Amino acid sequence: MKSLNLTPQLYEYLQQVSLREPDILTELRAETTQHPMARMQIAPEQGQFMAFLVELIGAKKTLDIGVFTGYSALVVALALPPDGVVIACDTDGEVTQIASRYWQAAGVAEKIHLRIAPALETLDSLLTMGQRETFDFAFIDADKRNYLEYYERSLQLLRPGGLLVVDNVLWSGRVADPADQDARTEAIRRFNQQLQGDERITLSLIPVADGLTLARKRDS
Ligand code: CA
Repeated sequence: MKSLNLTPQLYEYLQQVSLREPDILTELRAETTQHPMARMQIAPEQGQFMAFLVELIGAKKTLDIGVFTGYSALVVALALPPDGVVIACDTDGEVTQIASRYWQAAGVAEKIHLRIAPALETLDSLLTMGQRETFDFAFIDADKRNYLEYYERSLQLLRPGGLLVVDNVLWSGRVADPADQDARTEAIRRFNQQLQGDERITLSLIPVADGLTLARKRDS
């Protein structure tokens, strides 16, 4: 059977019977709704799934590439053990002030290290500083044109068995429309195609929210 088409009614039901969103995340989501770029917010059941994965693999050291108002970094930080770390990358020093405020309120601000700079620079400096193969988990949700670059660097930073999660890989369905030649759509298509043939990873693309790719780094 194909994946179910989630009607609004069924989606509401799914949330009713499975969502366990802490109040602080619900509040952050509500505040983010007021932001002009609110559609960049991840879905709550997606956040819960990411927290599940973080717990499942016993992650301690993680990357958050594309912070926005900080939902993904917060949901991951809440799932990490007390000595867990999130290196959070974003270029926007303004919107991430909202993020910092919620991280403080949630009591996990000390786990999250915000780096305001192009993420490629931050990732390159981590590699230069000898942090290759020290990360357990990475979430990529930033500018789509750099997805392959983020992927290559994240793969170097992840330990064997580490997990990479990538957002928006179905891009509202636009990736399957050949008439759509938008640069970002093309970038996501190239990304998806590249990963399908990449033997360095174990791959799964799941149609949750806007499409989520899971890539587990294989032992080399
Ligand atoms: Ca996204």
